[in-house]
Amino acid sequence: MIDEVLEAREKRYDTILDLIKKYKLPVICGKINYPGSNKNTPMSQKAYNILENLIISKFKDHIIEQKNTRGADGNAFILVVNLNPIKAKKMAMDMEIEHELGRIFDIDIYDLDGSSIGREKMGVQGRKCVICNSEARICIRERKHSLEDTINSIDKLINKYEIEI
Ligand SMILES: [Zn+2]
Repeated sequence: MIDEVLEAREKRYDTILDLIKKYKLPVICGKINYPGSNKNTPMSQKAYNILENLIISKFKDHIIEQKNTRGADGNAFILVVNLNPIKAKKMAMDMEIEHELGRIFDIDIYDLDGSSIGREKMGVQGRKCVICNSEARICIRERKHSLEDTINSIDKLINKYEIEI
């Protein structure tokens, strides 16, 4: 299972590198940060659809090519944009911070050298935990929440958003 996830990530990264090489432009990759070994649940699919629509509307004036990939690592939306990578990162982070489901959005920007732009580089804090609001990486490191609790909280968040719109 882990191997399949790693393999899916590698394959996706190859696709990203090919696109960067082809267009000499930055690439955006949007995924859902969904916990557990099954990344393709109906709930993660719902969240992914919401994310995909959001990314398209946010970047619509800058899209050069778009692609979907699907694998053991879940769905991913890949976009070539004619934007400065730092500007694209800023727009992606706005979505992660402002949107109700932003905490489970994972929107990476790949620069022309194939590296992804970290949040640290942008002078912003790390992400907050979906359950307790502490710094997410501390909760993960300390295994503060069970997998079941984490999945339940995230599914609830997705359901709540669906009902509101
Ligand atoms: Zn927490």
